Amino acid sequence: MGWFFTDKKGYKRSTTDNELIHRKVASKKLGRTIGEKEVVHHLNRNKLDNRPSNLYVFKSQNSHNKAHKKDDWW
Ligand SMILES: [Zn+2]
Repeated sequence: MGWFFTDKKGYKRSTTDNELIHRKVASKKLGRTIGEKEVVHHLNRNKLDNRPSNLYVFKSQNSHNKAHKKDDWW
């Protein structure tokens, strides 16, 4: 996946274009671009685990929030 760094929020980003790695991986997995309003979610809640199987794309931040409602740390 090339070179990356961890940003202030704890997400990995590409050093070449500053894009979030998990959005790139999700995009590759689905074979399409991830829309601006779409949110790529880490199923196991580990922000650094960007395996395709750990990523799920929500249509909006609102539906994404619902998935986190039961999480203690959200
Ligand atoms: Zn999430």
